Amino acid sequence: MIYDLIIIGLGPAGVSAAIYAKRAGLKVLCFESKMIGGYLNYIDKIDNYPGLYGISGPDFAFNLYESINKLGIEVKNTEVIEITQGDVKEVTTKNEKYLCKSIILSTGRSPKLLGISKEKELLGHGISHCALCDGAFYKDKVVAVVGGGNSALQEALYLSNICKQVYLIHRKNNFRVVGEVVERINNTSNITQMLGQNIKELIEKDNKLSAIILDNNQTFNVDGLFIYIGFEPNTKFLKNLNIINEDGYITVDKYFATKESGIYAVGDIVSKDIYQISTAVSDGTIAATSIINNIIKE
Ligand SMILES: Cc1cc2nc3c(=O)[nH]c(=O)nc-3n(C[C@H](O)[C@H](O)[C@H](O)COP(=O)(O)OP(=O)(O)OC[C@H]3O[C@@H](n4cnc5c(N)ncnc54)[C@H](O)[C@@H]3O)c2cc1C
Repeated sequence: MIYDLIIIGLGPAGVSAAIYAKRAGLKVLCFESKMIGGYLNYIDKIDNYPGLYGISGPDFAFNLYESINKLGIEVKNTEVIEITQGDVKEVTTKNEKYLCKSIILSTGRSPKLLGISKEKELLGHGISHCALCDGAFYKDKVVAVVGGGNSALQEALYLSNICKQVYLIHRKNNFRVVGEVVERINNTSNITQMLGQNIKELIEKDNKLSAIILDNNQTFNVDGLFIYIGFEPNTKFLKNLNIINEDGYITVDKYFATKESGIYAVGDIVSKDIYQISTAVSDGTIAATSIINNIIKE
């Protein structure tokens, strides 16, 4: 069987593409390694998507799952590990190979690591990238948040409602955002800002994070550490294609086509200015429509 289109990653970008492709009658197959909805599963609240003010991320993700389900779109719950280019393209998972004429890449981005010793071992044992998922484990406890962008500040505020104390650590002397969110941080009594500092060491006790040591050698006992220092595009499995720029993102044209014929990229893996749900959804729509139009022309 040769599919018209294979979509890899079912966050908002991939789901949008899948809806258009399926409704146009294409033979479409999707791959999702974790949960339909992608990063939305980890967002507390979304206030800026038109028509859905205040929706929780998991509720939004469930709505995307429902769309896929109701349209009867075929989904394999597994990770794609390689793609081979050709007139007929091969999509490889751990156990199978699938064939298709076009591919849409929509694998999003993952949180960056600090790059210090014990960080990977302590992930899930005191270290987290998701306050919404793990914040409740730290009720009335002491946590640190690292980062100076909007995500770090929003998550620090979220945790301040649950935890006894939140240390907000940022390597620069100013946050990367201004306005209301900074004002709220300044006015929240249980958030202590530690600017111009890096974490240099993690202390572990009984296989759990117990303290952090900063550049200035101050030690703080913490129960949890939440890291929000940016993202890395999920493009490592595409190394054999010549489509990734030096930052790891994918460069596309106005139809979201990459340099490789028949391979498109949409959403947060694309090199662009605005990384939002609305732009991801729009990218997916444009790429799928372009593929549909090309098929009609053939
Ligand atoms: C803390 C935070 C808060 C945010 N809040 C907002 C907000 O309020 N409003 C807003 O508009 N945007 C917000 N965003 C941004 C928004 O989440 C992203 O722009 C959007 O999710 C991007 O969609 P996507 O489909 O490109 O990628 P993702 O949502 O990241 O989905 C990618 C999917 O691909 C899957 N995948 C990855 N690799 C593979 C593989 N090899 N094989 C198979 N599947 C794979 C992943 O499991 C994932 O499900 C927020 C982001 C963060 C981090």
